[in-house]
Amino acid sequence: MKLSVIGTGYLGATHAAAMAELGHEVLGIDVDETKVARLSAGQVPFYEPGLPELLSKHVESGALRFGTSIAEAGEFADLHFVCVGTPQKPGELAADMTYVDAAFTALLEHVRPGAVLVGKSTVPVGTAARLAQQCAAAGGALVWNPEFLREGFAVEDTLRPDRIVIGAEDDDARAVLERAYESILATGTPLVVTDFPTAELVKVAANSFLATKISFINAMAEICEVTGGDVTKLAEAIGHDDRIGKKFLRAGLGFGGGCLPKDIRAFMARAGELGVDQAVAFLKNVDEINQRRRARMVDLAREMCGDSLAGRRVGILGAAFKPDSDDIRDSPALDVAFAIQRSGAAVRVYDPQAMGNAKDSYPTLAYAPSILDACDDADVVLHLTEWAEFRSLQPDDLASVVRAKNMLDGRNVLDPQHWRAEGWHFRALGRP
Ligand code: NAD
Repeated sequence: MKLSVIGTGYLGATHAAAMAELGHEVLGIDVDETKVARLSAGQVPFYEPGLPELLSKHVESGALRFGTSIAEAGEFADLHFVCVGTPQKPGELAADMTYVDAAFTALLEHVRPGAVLVGKSTVPVGTAARLAQQCAAAGGALVWNPEFLREGFAVEDTLRPDRIVIGAEDDDARAVLERAYESILATGTPLVVTDFPTAELVKVAANSFLATKISFINAMAEICEVTGGDVTKLAEAIGHDDRIGKKFLRAGLGFGGGCLPKDIRAFMARAGELGVDQAVAFLKNVDEINQRRRARMVDLAREMCGDSLAGRRVGILGAAFKPDSDDIRDSPALDVAFAIQRSGAAVRVYDPQAMGNAKDSYPTLAYAPSILDACDDADVVLHLTEWAEFRSLQPDDLASVVRAKNMLDGRNVLDPQHWRAEGWHFRALGRP
């Protein structure tokens, strides 16, 4: 099939390359000319394992190309995936819908009658019903198909999703989308067909649940911190109950990124508009617990530096919001690094992939080209993003460069006993 993908960021670029891998002819459209130039040259403008190989393969074969003209998308295909961003509005909890509205309005000026438009962006419930009217007026039909990919596993998650959700009012349009996903569905991938509001809600409900699970265990970490308990043992013990499960029960610095934080906030804002804010009032706590972990990291760093950060040197390991990604949107690591710098310490940040993005967004932080440079002469080292190269760090690797053997593990992956046995003062969130 011929299809277009409008918005080629983390979601859209991955979706475009994956659709080419499924055998479709794909045109990706973005308003960002620099991004389009890089994608056209077969380069992925962000870090996502496996995507560069997939993208260059299909750009070279001609199955996948990129451009900036939305008119060309309308001419090229009768199936269009809209993957533009829905960031948090500055100074509000709600999602900024200007990109989605602009993309649909522009696209609908150019689509042929009978075109199918697929919404993949994460949007406030009620958006699809509104856009469906706009699509119908232009002779097109809308389906809503929320996306569940995880950065770091985006290619795998797109080609082998654990479910496909389609919200549709029009069976013919739904059938077109199912045909595009035919080879995925043929492998037995569960398909959940719903109405529009349910499809929109599935996405925010899933992210709210995941955020709640993380904040739940981080709330237990807060209790452990005042009682002398060990949250990692607590999580292990409750995780053996398969009604609870082990996943997403790792206490630490909490969640960040371009999805979870803004999605739960947008959900609260939308629920407020609908008069059901009480139903998701708990998400306010979830968000607050998450933010408190960041403040707690700063406090622990201060304690380890003798109750003042002023004039201290702090080595920061991690900038991305999670490993295997260079995404720094709402990154807990950079938030902590910035707060520590504001408290008068000299920070040096190192991340294997996110340095470019971090430097653009936090130009006043200092950056180091390696783990050892970041930790050079440090009074305390903070482990904030659990990249494999940080997880495998040994006390000896750092012992000769730091000023004081102080390690603060924000991700609960280093072995406290091992570090302490090597003479380090070791602290972690939620552990004695
Ligand atoms: P992103 O910021 O990386 O990408 C959005 C892209 O859309 C940008 O390249 C931007 O230039 C482009 N764009 C904006 N307006 C446009 C227009 N009018 N026409 C064409 N292109 C336009 O964002 P993202 O992370 O890819 O997220 C996109 C959407 O997908 C969001 O709603 C997000 O919540 C959702 N989502 C993201 C992920 C993820 O892991 N990143 C996962 C699931 C869902």
